Amino acid sequence: MVFDGHSDLLYDVTRRRLAGEDHVLERCHLDRLRRGGVEGLVLALWTSAAAGQTFWRDVPEAETDADRTRIMMACARAELAECPWLSVVRTAGEAEQARAAGALYAFLAIEGMAAIGGDLGGIDRYHAFGARIGMLTWNEENCLATGAGGDPASGLTELGRQAVRRMQDLGMLVDVSHLNDGGFWDVMRETHGPVIASHSNCRALCSVRRNLTDDQLRAIRDTGGVVGLNVHHAFVHADPAEQTAEMLARHAAHMAEVMGIEHVACGFDFCEFMGPGNEGAQGLENCAQIQNLFYWLEQLGMSARERELIARENLLRVLA
Ligand SMILES: [Zn+2]
Repeated sequence: MVFDGHSDLLYDVTRRRLAGEDHVLERCHLDRLRRGGVEGLVLALWTSAAAGQTFWRDVPEAETDADRTRIMMACARAELAECPWLSVVRTAGEAEQARAAGALYAFLAIEGMAAIGGDLGGIDRYHAFGARIGMLTWNEENCLATGAGGDPASGLTELGRQAVRRMQDLGMLVDVSHLNDGGFWDVMRETHGPVIASHSNCRALCSVRRNLTDDQLRAIRDTGGVVGLNVHHAFVHADPAEQTAEMLARHAAHMAEVMGIEHVACGFDFCEFMGPGNEGAQGLENCAQIQNLFYWLEQLGMSARERELIARENLLRVLA
């Protein structure tokens, strides 16, 4: 069974609920989750994309990040209330209880905190919503930090440094997946607990800004954190012919070599429901195909125990 450390299903939930649908997860996604062997997932709230680029362009009063966050939280609450088969949890212990009771489990995460404006109280509101994991930015520059789409050299703002401390005081894991390099190293200086990169691969195999250098992998290892494997085709390899499940397994092997197997996890980021440009690697087109990755991990010589660590245990350890 697999714990997927980064899922954008709440994007599909919000888009469909605003169009009048309900029971979106059960009707549109549950069967594929089960076929992929998913026992739990991290559901992220992502509101930072320019509104004109997504379904938000047709939603009234959704111009700002704060508007979109409020709407998305309301849709998420309504949807989750319709899912008796899915338990929202905050700890690995609660996740194990849900699993024992035959339910899937979901941790909540915030993917980009532009919506807080200049107010650190926003982090308390994310925590009250149930978020256990938070990213300071998506790819944009905001009041806290600069995302991977901005100047790689700029670091955290003073408010961003305070945000890291506030998150860790509240027990929220800091997730650096979308940060630029300057912000990454500022988080490493500021942290007093595990830091994760929930959905990023290795620059050694695919040199894009959303992937991590070997030095960054080691820095995350040194905090006790994990890095989650991302299926997005463009983060797997520069050559389309090499954007495959096998190549993603090679990222896992590289991470294991650099950090140790205990720091490799899953954060698949399946986004095929967002349309063209969001395809997964070949053999990992949607979450029903997750086991193809584990087939290739076995082909690369990983033991059943090592595959179990990657599939679920490593990330659950960090969420204890
Ligand atoms: Zn992302």
